[in-house]
Amino acid sequence: MAAETEVALERAADPTRHDVLFSRRAANIKQSAVRDVFDISIRPGLVSLAGGSPYLKSLPLDDLGRTAQKIIAERGLEALQYGGGQGMEELRGLVCEVMAAEGIEGAVPDDVVITTGSQSAQDVAAKVFCDPGDVILCEDPTYVGALNTFEAYEVDVVTVAMDENGLIPDELERTIGELQAQGRSIKLLYTIPSFNNPSGITLAADRRQQVVDICRRNDILVLEDNPYGMLRFDGEPLKPMRADNPDDVIYLGSFSKIFAPGVRLGWALVPKHLYRRFYLACEAVVLCPSPLTQMLVSAYLTDYDWQGHLRSMRSLYRERCEAMLGALAEEFPEGVHWTTPDGGFFVWVTLPEGIDTYPLLYTAIDAGVVFIPGAAFTPSDEPSNKLRLAFSAVTPEDIVEGVRRLAPILRTAISE
Ligand code: PMP
Repeated sequence: MAAETEVALERAADPTRHDVLFSRRAANIKQSAVRDVFDISIRPGLVSLAGGSPYLKSLPLDDLGRTAQKIIAERGLEALQYGGGQGMEELRGLVCEVMAAEGIEGAVPDDVVITTGSQSAQDVAAKVFCDPGDVILCEDPTYVGALNTFEAYEVDVVTVAMDENGLIPDELERTIGELQAQGRSIKLLYTIPSFNNPSGITLAADRRQQVVDICRRNDILVLEDNPYGMLRFDGEPLKPMRADNPDDVIYLGSFSKIFAPGVRLGWALVPKHLYRRFYLACEAVVLCPSPLTQMLVSAYLTDYDWQGHLRSMRSLYRERCEAMLGALAEEFPEGVHWTTPDGGFFVWVTLPEGIDTYPLLYTAIDAGVVFIPGAAFTPSDEPSNKLRLAFSAVTPEDIVEGVRRLAPILRTAISE
């Protein structure tokens, strides 16, 4: 073997060779627990109550195929070219109509940025507002993807307790007071007010304005992440916090749950005085969101009965949620509690104090079922006696089977 080749191989074999080049913030970049379990959860025979994927089988795939073909045939050069950083005006206008259906009246396309899913908007928010050591407040528990994103910016994520009606205003006020007394700079409250991921809990209507008022008084911006808001099982969606507070709330929406995550499109509705910086930061990351998928989503919103599709999705998710709640009541041992969501994808299960759900995951995998251990959803490294179950992507029969497989594992953990 030539000497240079030997040196090259030796170098390639040293995985730590470039470690000194990593930025300080790269040390905070972690794989999410949901992604960890994702690979396991597609094994044949396994029931996955882990991933919060939407149900896509009832999408009109043949029609969408024809629509995609038409887009390429008629607007191919535009669809495959770079587009504007704010996203296409056509889609931004339609986004305003979607938000109107959710209770946000009067939004205009100029206040909307199309993003690569809500995930990229969270990243931009942290980038635009936070310096290392700044604080972002969030619910306990909260979305693991947001935690990973915020922590990558060396932000200190501080949690605020929830009860069955969501974030507790008094706790929010107390936490802010404590942090301010320590001289900390609090920039954002990140909240998932409707059907929180992972807990399924919804911030009660009468608390929403209270929470915004507390943040306003303390010069904290609200980052309202609402991908599940339209997936309320019964009745109208609760009015988003943004509706009556256009200057204090950045509102994040997503097509991932109301259409399909593969288009990788969401949006941010940004207060006018913050818009320019926010959208320039979006542009700096992706240049522009995909024109091709923006056209597909625009056509979907224009040519299809998307609200009708949403109605059928809501009843499908309600049926699955009921199957899960029924199975939990039937199978789970005494001492285990869970939330009863009014929409969304998740049920949050609490075991007796002192039980760590993380090691139970391995036993569960051997028994043919997966869930996400609760520790993933808080910034602390403490063990957690909670776990998240998702009902969105599994048939009612499989949900019942999964819960049956999980129950004896919990029973053993409790009796040990
Ligand atoms: N926010 C929450 C609360 C979520 O649950 C998810 C995805 N599971 C996201 C944001 C990311 O969504 P998107 O596909 O729009 O990036």
